[in-house]
Amino acid sequence: MRSQDTGRGVESTRADTTYPPTPGRDTSDRDAWDIAATVCDPEIPVLTIEDLGILRTVETTQDQGVLITITPTYSGCPAMDAIRDDLTAVLTAHGYTGVEVRLVLAPAWTTDWMSEAGRAKLQEYGIAPPTGKAALGGHSGPIRLALNVKCPQCSSLDTRELTRFGSTSCKALYVCRSCQEPFDYFKVL
Ligand SMILES: [Zn+2]
Repeated sequence: MRSQDTGRGVESTRADTTYPPTPGRDTSDRDAWDIAATVCDPEIPVLTIEDLGILRTVETTQDQGVLITITPTYSGCPAMDAIRDDLTAVLTAHGYTGVEVRLVLAPAWTTDWMSEAGRAKLQEYGIAPPTGKAALGGHSGPIRLALNVKCPQCSSLDTRELTRFGSTSCKALYVCRSCQEPFDYFKVL
């Protein structure tokens, strides 16, 4: 084993498109995971919690119980309560009992955890997926690599922000200068 550069080593893992490496998959009960992974985000119904990267682990117990851990997207995002209810409902419907959903706050979720499939679905839905990369290091404030936001309708990069907070706190409202269409942008976090 040779020691790697640990200073800013996060970047070196980016070649693999799944970051963080598919959480919990190896240790999770596969069936229960697949059921849990069908739950969608109530604010962006085209995205499952797996697409968003907030489904972390799914473990089953001997007596058909399930322990699920999820990481909230934005602190205070009320979607988490709905997701918890949906997880309980869908797993109960599949015969599991005693469904427990725990929130794991660290490491904090970032838009980097969103899967490529999730980004493609967002775009198709008319929401510009997050561009650029979230700032590393947590409390450093709103330092983000700003890239132009691409219009989901016409793919123009000539867009501008109308309001920082769109229909939900997770999104900003943009307008395209090319086709004049307003659209939601899923902000990088
Ligand atoms: Zn456009």
